[in-house]
Amino acid sequence: MTVAARLSPQPWMTAPESRAVFAALDAGGADARFVGGCVRDAWLGRPVKDIDIATHAPPERVMDLLEAAGIRVIPTGIAHGTVTALCGGKPYEITTLRRDVETDGRHARVEFTDDWVEDAARRDLTMNALSCTPDGAMFDPFGGLADLAAGRVRFVGEARRRIEEDVLRLLRFFRFHAHYGRGEPDAEALAACRELAPRLPTLSGERVRGELFRLLTAPCAAAVWRLMMGQGIMAHLLPEAMDTGRLDRLIAVERDLGITPDPTRRLAAVLDSDRPGALLAAEALRLSNHERDRLLALVEPPVALAPTDDRKALRQGLYRIGDGELFGDLLLIAAAIHDGPLDLTALRAAMSVAGDLPNLRLPIAGRDLLELGIPRGPAVGEMLKRIEGWWIAEDFQPGRDACLEVARGLIGERPS
Ligand code: ATP
Ligand code: MG
Repeated sequence: MTVAARLSPQPWMTAPESRAVFAALDAGGADARFVGGCVRDAWLGRPVKDIDIATHAPPERVMDLLEAAGIRVIPTGIAHGTVTALCGGKPYEITTLRRDVETDGRHARVEFTDDWVEDAARRDLTMNALSCTPDGAMFDPFGGLADLAAGRVRFVGEARRRIEEDVLRLLRFFRFHAHYGRGEPDAEALAACRELAPRLPTLSGERVRGELFRLLTAPCAAAVWRLMMGQGIMAHLLPEAMDTGRLDRLIAVERDLGITPDPTRRLAAVLDSDRPGALLAAEALRLSNHERDRLLALVEPPVALAPTDDRKALRQGLYRIGDGELFGDLLLIAAAIHDGPLDLTALRAAMSVAGDLPNLRLPIAGRDLLELGIPRGPAVGEMLKRIEGWWIAEDFQPGRDACLEVARGLIGERPS
């Protein structure tokens, strides 16, 4: 394979930890390169998340070489050829070159190889089949660089066959189109996705969630979601997630306010559903309990919030919700639902009310009422509720003394 281009040295490539990992492999004569997402994103000047390395050496040999160099290594997926080196606290996923010998749409049986092109050929997209030596020589066996430049998301080989081998690739196609695509999606790939979409339900919820959540964080997630709905993809995944207009508006609001995209918040926006639909979506995507509860709270808010400049009303909402993050998310969704022009300054001010939460604590408790002579029992809770109601109506301003004063007043009213 000839060198296709040169990648200027990136900080993550020249970091002492990266150098140490490559030196350890090199010491044993193991040829190794950076592969996949880190090469692709570095070429585009985008931030690199995780670092994947591929090598000739079989996984046991990789472990030996790293350990001999004093680098900690974990056999994370040794049966599939993957180990994780932990060097200076940084993880490096190192995988032995592989080729597929058998695929069933969900899993692949792999064999190790020493052929870089074979390894690249089993990768999904041309832009994901790039590799790069530690000194920046880039290899591009399937035209990934030209595709990246053109914003063309394209399968390595025949789209239909590649999706049949692993149906997850259908979702990866749309996920990568959302983040790297420009213009019309590849027609051959789209036709294959349409045809093979009925196989999507065979995928595990975890894998579907991984792709959909990454897709949802893209700036054009709503447009790609619409594209997927139009191709009959979503009907097999999340038939209740159809409100792409609301997702469009949420994305615009997040962008205008400089708020980091959050997939659960975006999923809540696109879900055209109430509790039962959200529960189905949470189940289908195997959301964690925390994510499920957040999703439910977002589609069925415990308090109706509006992006108003009435700080007192907002504080009351915040107090009832009792969670600053959820309060902010609900405001963003309310803003996405809001008809007509949105006052961003007012919305920003409304969001900042979340910072008041630590101060919204009723300054008295049941034991204060006991000390004032209220007998233990339901009367304590009832009186506390009345005082709380007054304190909320006074915009949470009254302090402990004022609350105790009201308590004394109420005690005085009580029939003896
Ligand atoms: P990200 O930055 O989102 O992590 P990535 O390209 O690193 O992007 P991963 O899902 O981490 O994506 O996968 C790492 C690499 O493994 C990909 O670049 C691709 O070469 C290959 N790959 C991952 N999943 C598949 C798949 N289902 N079929 C074929 N190749 C795959
Ligand atoms: Mg990755």
